[in-house]
Amino acid sequence: MQGNYITNFLKSEDTILEGVIENDNRIELHIKMKQKPHICPRCGEITSKIHDYRVQRIKDVPLFGKPTVIVLKKRRYVCKHCGKKFYEHIDYLPRMTSRLSIYILQQLKKQQSMKDISEVTGVSITTVMRLLDTIGVEPDYKTLPEIISIYEFKENSGGRKYHCIIVDPKERKILDILKDRKQKNLSEYFKRFKDRNKVKWVIIDMWRPFSDTVKTYFKGAKIAIDKFHFTRYIYWAIENVRKRIQKELPDNKRKYFKRSRKLLLAKYDTLTTEQKEELEVMFWYSDDLRIAYLLKEEFNEVSCIIKCNR
Ligand SMILES: [Zn+2]
Repeated sequence: MQGNYITNFLKSEDTILEGVIENDNRIELHIKMKQKPHICPRCGEITSKIHDYRVQRIKDVPLFGKPTVIVLKKRRYVCKHCGKKFYEHIDYLPRMTSRLSIYILQQLKKQQSMKDISEVTGVSITTVMRLLDTIGVEPDYKTLPEIISIYEFKENSGGRKYHCIIVDPKERKILDILKDRKQKNLSEYFKRFKDRNKVKWVIIDMWRPFSDTVKTYFKGAKIAIDKFHFTRYIYWAIENVRKRIQKELPDNKRKYFKRSRKLLLAKYDTLTTEQKEELEVMFWYSDDLRIAYLLKEEFNEVSCIIKCNR
C-alpha cells in the first residue's frame, strides 16, 4: 500500500521526480511540480511567471525501513498584473504528513519503542509523544484478557503530562494508549467492556486513580503492584534517610556518606567484605539507616520468593 501510494503520486501528471538519493541513514525523493498557470489569489488574473523556489523537506513514511524525506522544490509565482507573490498549490501535501502520523501510531500499538520509531522515521521522540495526544479513547479491541497492566508514562522526559498505557502482559502487546491518566477517563474507557469480570489480575503502578478504577470496574480482579515501581519507592526512601542523616554529620563524614550511596542501594550478597564493613560504619551512626537498609533487603527477598514460586 505504501509503495502504491508513492508510485501513484510520482505517476501523477503534475509531479516530476528529479532524483532519488539514498545514503546510510535516509532516502530522499527529490520532486518538483510541473509548471502551470495559477490564478492570483489577490486579483484573480492568471500567471505562469516564476518568481523563485524554496526547498521544503517533508518527512514521510519510511521506505525499506529507512527514514524517508520528500524534498520538494516549491515554486513561487508572481502575478504580472498586481505583483503578488504566492506559492504553487499542491493538494496532496497535507495528506503526506498525516500519513506519517498514522504510521507512527500503528507502530506504537505494535509496541515499538519510541526510540526505534524515532530512528526509523527520522521524527524526534518528542514529536512521537505529541502524536499520542491525538489518540481517542475508542478501543479497537473488543475483549479483555485475564491479566492487564496499566502504566503511566511521561509525555517527554522533562514534562509533567502523563499518558496511560494498557498492556496485555501475557501476550506482550499494547492494547491501547490513553492520552491522560485521569480517573474519569479511565472509568469511561473501561466501562464499555462487557467482559470485565473475566479479568483476574490488574498490574498497576502506585498511582491512586489506577487502584480506584480497578476496585470499581474490576470487582473480580486482584491488584498487583508492579515490582519495578515498588523498588523505586524503596530506593527513594533509603535515599531520603541517608540525606537526612548526612546533613547532621561533620564535613569529613558527610563526604564519606555521599561516596557510600551506591553501597546502600546494592544487594548485600553482592558486596565485598570491605564494603560490608563500610556499611557497618554508616549504620553505627544511624539506626534509622540500618532499619531502612534491612527493610530494603527484606523486600528484595520477598519479591525473589514470589518470582521463584511463580
Ligand atoms: Zn494579481
